[in-house]
Amino acid sequence: MILTGEVLTMSEPAEVEAVYLEGDRIADLGQAADLSARYPKAKKLSFEQITPGLHDAHTHPLHWGEALGILDLAGVTDPREAAERVARYAKNQPAGAWVRGAGYLLRDYPSSVLLDEAAPHNPVFLRSRDFHSCWVNQQALNLAHINTQTPNPEGGVVVRDASGSPTGYLLEQAQGLVLEVMPKAGLTELERGLRDLARRGYTATHHMGLCSLELAETLAKAHKIPLRLWWALDRAHWQGVQPGWRGDCLEVAAVKFFVDGALGSRTAWMVEPYPDTTHGMALDALEDIRSEGQRALEAGFSMVAHAIGTRAVKGLLEVFGDLAPLTQALQRPLRMEHVQHVRDEEISKFAGLPLAISMQPMHALADTVLVQHHLPSKEREAFRFLDLWNTGLPMALGSDAPVAEPDVRLNLEAATHHPLTPAQSLSPWQVLWAHTRGAALAAGWNEHGLIGPEAPADLTLWEGGKPIGRVFRGELELPGV
Ligand SMILES: [Zn+2]
Repeated sequence: MILTGEVLTMSEPAEVEAVYLEGDRIADLGQAADLSARYPKAKKLSFEQITPGLHDAHTHPLHWGEALGILDLAGVTDPREAAERVARYAKNQPAGAWVRGAGYLLRDYPSSVLLDEAAPHNPVFLRSRDFHSCWVNQQALNLAHINTQTPNPEGGVVVRDASGSPTGYLLEQAQGLVLEVMPKAGLTELERGLRDLARRGYTATHHMGLCSLELAETLAKAHKIPLRLWWALDRAHWQGVQPGWRGDCLEVAAVKFFVDGALGSRTAWMVEPYPDTTHGMALDALEDIRSEGQRALEAGFSMVAHAIGTRAVKGLLEVFGDLAPLTQALQRPLRMEHVQHVRDEEISKFAGLPLAISMQPMHALADTVLVQHHLPSKEREAFRFLDLWNTGLPMALGSDAPVAEPDVRLNLEAATHHPLTPAQSLSPWQVLWAHTRGAALAAGWNEHGLIGPEAPADLTLWEGGKPIGRVFRGELELPGV
């Protein structure tokens, strides 16, 4: 098969006219006329643009699959609007069934009362856009046995009123109290989430935790994983697991740690306090990340760590610096996820570390207001795409779906037109590089993410600035055509 168009190789030469595929490999590339002459029997197809297969370098496919099946509250910033949507949705649900929603972004913690009125016959569980907090009604609190006597779980907070009664808002690990009593997402949701990514033109994604490996292994055995799946295990579930490939689409590669929370829930851990004088929350203690990370590296895993606030980034740089010598045998970098707020002092400390920087520029679109509200005068420390690109470390871009929709065009828009500090914008080529070659390097998949002789035939096909299909392991897929 010969594909022609504007072929961006992410290699040398940077652009060619055509690429020739043989089986699941790229066999040749160059000028369209030359390839036609060399392979006269090959089938020919033309597209506006052809790139290496897109990676979404940070997803939670189980929860994305789940989100595709529940009440969507994306863009909701007013608790009353959320409650109205819940009321409409709950009308069609049987009494007692859980009403689930996700995606809202609120400035203040709302109370259960609005949801009690909206859905008097159902327990309600709504997750914030960043996944770091949830809003529930009284029925859900009752089912989870959360009352004045309930202590805050480790790493979590049950928000309470002046009299000590839970108000219906739960931060971080406290969400687990309710999740425990809810029906669990499973194979159907994981497969739905992965299929949706494949349909959007992705040929790979990096799973960032919160899903049991057994589900993915079950799909792998049944040959039902529709893209290359790089897997990070939760910190609680890596001991006793062997790193490595399960079939040819699933690699168990890393252990995930959380240094802090997120800005939207005011749990991102900051050097300087928020206007309310709090500093956010440290989640996994830095000493624990260092000691457990060392054990994970010695067992052959890489490390992934979530760091959003300035204090989290600073602390994690120190830990990764200490662990750097242990990564030599690993063949892949450590990863810092989000890297959302960085002080000038820290920028110079990235270069030279065995580290990939994994960011989600599209979050800047929704977080602009949050940054201005929670971090006034600190706008320039937020989403430093260009400064971090200039560290010379590989940059990998993603969506953090279901936190945001895994639509690559949103990252192209946000990163090339930075909504807070235009000088930090990247070029479209840089964005595409970080979605292909940069992401592949971050995964340690060094032969992926570029179009060159003998590279895997994983490609994304574009028309009108939009992915319309892909080639995955040499097979052409054009959904909707
Ligand atoms: Zn995530």
